[in-house]
Amino acid sequence: MLFRSIKLIEEWLPEKKYFNADKCIGIDKTVEKIFTPDDKQSHLFLDWLLRFQLNQLKKSHIEQKPIYQSAELQKLAPSRIVEILEVLAGCMTINAKKMMEEIFELFLTNCEVYTYRELSVCLITFSKKYKTKELEVFNFEKLINPIVAIMEKELKAPERSSGDWSIMDKNICNCADCKILTQFLNSQKESQKVWPLSKDRRQHIHRMIDNMILPVTHKTEHTGSPHKLKLNKTNQLFKQSKERRLDLAETLGALSKVLNTKN
Ligand SMILES: [Zn+2]
Repeated sequence: MLFRSIKLIEEWLPEKKYFNADKCIGIDKTVEKIFTPDDKQSHLFLDWLLRFQLNQLKKSHIEQKPIYQSAELQKLAPSRIVEILEVLAGCMTINAKKMMEEIFELFLTNCEVYTYRELSVCLITFSKKYKTKELEVFNFEKLINPIVAIMEKELKAPERSSGDWSIMDKNICNCADCKILTQFLNSQKESQKVWPLSKDRRQHIHRMIDNMILPVTHKTEHTGSPHKLKLNKTNQLFKQSKERRLDLAETLGALSKVLNTKN
């Protein structure tokens, strides 16, 4: 077993970069190849490997929380989720239920990093590899039920009314100008802002709006001193709200079926 494991670990560490390797790509497959049901050693080794991987991933994912705006976090959520789901699949292979529960907890307490809509989509795909009974044995309802509840709650909230221009996305920058920007974004009534601002500060606001991927145009009017930054919330805001609800309802329907109707 040991020799075979070393061979497989070497495949995980291409170019023999032993000390730089931070994760085992496709760990679920590596676990499947190494696992021998009656061999305690293989079980202990794989438990260690999965734990190591989980800790590495957790660290690198959670570190991204304060650095990225929520839209950026959301864009990368699927790749993060898939990495963790590979560990989860490995845990299922070696029956590491405690580690699985820890992964469920990780997902549910870090919704900014593992956004629940993206998590749902990944879970729907993931669940197709398993039978309902297997998912039940591993208590997947402990993960799926709370996600369903969060999505239902969002869907039950009233739709955006036609005059509501508020944008509630959090800005990770706390500078004085960003506080003014946030006030404008949060305002229900204000859809436009003309803001005399020096070049550096204008550029900072341009960058923040771009990073936050907001339905807000930002242009500079080159008159007066300092020049004026012109911000305009666009109708895309209302379109996005509608699309989000439709998408959420569809995803929720598919996720609810995962434990209910699969055979
Ligand atoms: Zn700022």
